[in-house]
Amino acid sequence: MTGKEKLRKKIFSGGRVSPAEAETLFSWDLLELGEAADLRRRLIHPADTVGFILDRIVNYTNICEAACGFCAFHSGAALKPYELSLPEILAKVGELSALGGTQVMLQGGLHPGHQLGTYAGMLREIKKNFPAIYLHSFSPSELAHIAVKSSLPLDTVIKELQEAGLDSVPGAADLLVDRIRAKVSPRKIGKDAWVGIMRSLHRRGMKSSATMTYGMGETEKERIAHLAVVRGVQDETGMFRAFIPWSFSPGRTKLERMAPATGIDYLKVVAVSRIFLDNVRYIQAGWLTEGLKLAQLALAMGANDMGGVLTEEKVVQATGSGTKAGMAEFIDLIKNAGKIPVLRDSDYRIIDRRPGRRLK
Ligand code: SF4
Repeated sequence: MTGKEKLRKKIFSGGRVSPAEAETLFSWDLLELGEAADLRRRLIHPADTVGFILDRIVNYTNICEAACGFCAFHSGAALKPYELSLPEILAKVGELSALGGTQVMLQGGLHPGHQLGTYAGMLREIKKNFPAIYLHSFSPSELAHIAVKSSLPLDTVIKELQEAGLDSVPGAADLLVDRIRAKVSPRKIGKDAWVGIMRSLHRRGMKSSATMTYGMGETEKERIAHLAVVRGVQDETGMFRAFIPWSFSPGRTKLERMAPATGIDYLKVVAVSRIFLDNVRYIQAGWLTEGLKLAQLALAMGANDMGGVLTEEKVVQATGSGTKAGMAEFIDLIKNAGKIPVLRDSDYRIIDRRPGRRLK
């Protein structure tokens, strides 16, 4: 039996794939890889349901002292500096709430003048006015920034934010490879700090998600190294509800001359992630960065969630490449992929098995 035949057998029997084996998967034929990933998806999530959530990203400021080279959102890149007032933030959450939305992602730049009180104040006011809204908000980098600016231990910051209403924190991992981070985001936290923050969140009983932004000059081995960090933290904590890979969008960033990753590359990343991350139940199709049609294909190659029907988002839009979509398109897209669309909550529990009724 060849090495590839042995690996196929291991994948189809549900065995754990090593980093060295995972690296070889990038050379497989796309359809063969997609078939293997779809089988692994069935082992971990046999139902053909594909969930999505009604949410809104509220990018409260783009003033950011990190000024990452891969970011078009911060005020030194494509957009003018802005900062939303608390009433403006509440108005945006109110619009989502009126539409029946359930989750808000507050995300912003690392503002040099903000301390814990600013962030805790936003959470408290939202929860006071909209107690049913789930706050899946901030990022590990924002948490580290708050701790530094407030001269407080990270665990204290997390505790205070949780008490103010923070329900969970998106993983926002970028690429967990310090060689690449040193080039594209030298002022942001490194890999080990990211892992440490995840452990702190876990100690407070908080859930997260893990993401991967690829296509920034990394090797396939480095992509697998990122996945290995995620799998290791998940083995230890079980805190990741989902994994979301997306390609770097170079438009209007300092890395603008870099060629964007291809669609084939995206589908391979989804499939390899599904096979390697045997301990993560949901893999999201990244329609916002990859477009709806590619996201639909990803549903046949390991992905089993569509993430949020976003009513607003500025970070990806700033690169000039973001996609916009509504609930009707999501439902059609999922059905046309031969799957069953379901509306879910932040914990991936189904809250509506016939979400199309909400459109009438
Ligand atoms: S990616 Fe985040 S931390 Fe980096 S410049 Fe953009 S907003 Fe700031």
